[in-house]
Amino acid sequence: MLKYLLIALLVIWLFYSPALRGKRTGAKPAAKPEPPRAENMVQCAHCGVHLPEGDSTKDEQGRTYCSQAHRQAGPRQV
Ligand SMILES: [Zn+2]
Repeated sequence: MLKYLLIALLVIWLFYSPALRGKRTGAKPAAKPEPPRAENMVQCAHCGVHLPEGDSTKDEQGRTYCSQAHRQAGPRQV
């Protein structure tokens, strides 16, 4: 009875071992794709619209604007 159990275990081991070896030596699955990073949102100092920082333009004071036109118009006077 024990003999059959051992044979069964051997068969199982033979069945799984190549798969395990393949996993260990095989190319690692590509690193988790990074979640799309939420880009920092900034607000136009002139019209107040929110836009990704990369699409904004800044003036000398570091204020952000949605466009060159608004940059030239300057910050909104409240
Ligand atoms: Zn604007």
